[in-house]
Amino acid sequence: MKKYSVITLLLLSLFSCKTVEKQEVLNKQKPNILFIMTDDHALAAISAYKGFLSEVAPTPNIDKIANDGMRFNNMFCTNSICGPSRASILTGKYAHVNGFFKNEGGGDFDSSQQTFPKILQNNGYETAVIGKWHLGSAPTGFDYYKVLFNKEGQGSYFDPVFEVTGDSIVEETGKFSTTVIKEDAINWLKNRKDSTKPFMLMYQFKAPHRPWEPGPGYEDYLSDVTLPYPATFNDDYKGRKAAKDAWMKIDGHMNRKDVKIKPPSGLTEDELIAWNSYGNNDGEFWTPDENMTDQERKNWKYQHYVKDYLRVVKAVDDAIGEMLNHLEASGLAENTIIIYTSDQGFYLGEHGWFDKRFMYEESMHMPLLIKYPKKIKAGSVNNDLILNIDYAPTLLSLAGIEAPKDMQGKSFVPVLENRTKKPFRDAVYYHYYEYPYWHNVQPHYGIRTDRYKLIHYYYDMNEWELFDLEKDPNETTNLYDNPENKNLIGKLKIRLEELKKENKMDISMEELKKMTDIRIDRRYRVEPAN
Ligand code: CA
Repeated sequence: MKKYSVITLLLLSLFSCKTVEKQEVLNKQKPNILFIMTDDHALAAISAYKGFLSEVAPTPNIDKIANDGMRFNNMFCTNSICGPSRASILTGKYAHVNGFFKNEGGGDFDSSQQTFPKILQNNGYETAVIGKWHLGSAPTGFDYYKVLFNKEGQGSYFDPVFEVTGDSIVEETGKFSTTVIKEDAINWLKNRKDSTKPFMLMYQFKAPHRPWEPGPGYEDYLSDVTLPYPATFNDDYKGRKAAKDAWMKIDGHMNRKDVKIKPPSGLTEDELIAWNSYGNNDGEFWTPDENMTDQERKNWKYQHYVKDYLRVVKAVDDAIGEMLNHLEASGLAENTIIIYTSDQGFYLGEHGWFDKRFMYEESMHMPLLIKYPKKIKAGSVNNDLILNIDYAPTLLSLAGIEAPKDMQGKSFVPVLENRTKKPFRDAVYYHYYEYPYWHNVQPHYGIRTDRYKLIHYYYDMNEWELFDLEKDPNETTNLYDNPENKNLIGKLKIRLEELKKENKMDISMEELKKMTDIRIDRRYRVEPAN
């Protein structure tokens, strides 16, 4: 009996120790997630993608994530503007399902709905979001948040104002947004409340969104070089009416502030705003020098705004370098999934444009680089068709949590582990609603396969475009009216209808137009209480 008692006691004590240890081991096995997102970062401005700017303006720190992990060449947003892409990332759902389909006049994000941070938080993760949020309603599902509040949630490069957990407003006077966000993110990691829990941190920069204001130390970067021009810089928009009508041409729609022209002194506040924003609308002509030819003026504006864009990117790259160093130094690197992405792409002179919105390649693409040594082979490259709605189910799956069935995206963990036998998807569906603000881009939807793209512009025009991405990767030749393509167009339209059905897009054309017309104010228009 005595022997048994000792053994039982031993077993009992071992068991209780084991239970505690088991929980700790389980927690340690759960990966940390660092989700780094910038705003409007084009693939062409990330040297890992080897685009036309990669040699002149490399991004060595962002590239490290690709070199140590996987680079995705075909990650797409489902609606190429800030808020809608972010809402789709959080919910794993298309804009017409999560309700956030426009930045302008579409109201706030319904923060009571299910998001992947909420699910992670409910499953033992400590969660935080630091930086740009831009969804109107305050973040939910986060133990801590500090998100840009001024400029209707866009935030500013200098003197940014943040909304912090518990509804307080913090003005970071005299500071630069990228620096503040970097320091806050590293400090949050250093001072976590419960470090036995795994973490999920959304580390989200304002940069490189317009108005591209370089921070201290970056003003002169690239000042002595002439940037190369993209192949479609002088596009004539032949056969593409919606492209021709858009107000995002470098020469025709860039304002004085975009290229940092110094305003005259003595203007009132309203006069200053009008002077700075002159150029936004069609027909608002201005030139820095009356002697310039049309081409010289367009080139001049391009060199100015793209250099500023690359300057704010450089600061982000350095901030990411510091974060990567911190993860290494603190021993977190091995068990942390590091994702680098942006809410959508951006035109850096392609088609003679700045901005995004269109279903064309440069704005539909999002960068996606992932490092996670436990599952991803270093230096991998993938060409599957992945969507922003796939992030939520993928991150949940990596955390060992089954994604809710109503999420429309699907986990691409099998792609990360290199165990897919056939393409992840044969085609994707895209839909853009906002019009006419800010850039007069006609609402449209479409299908993209690995080779073809079919787009329908429907709001106050009825135009179709078809591109063969293999023969015409720059999308300058609309093949829709070529009778030879009748069969192909028929097949693509059938698949497009199937995709709409699969994604619960059963809204009538009349209702879609109403979605474009609707005007619901955002919360950011209300001044903060303190
Ligand atoms: Ca954006």
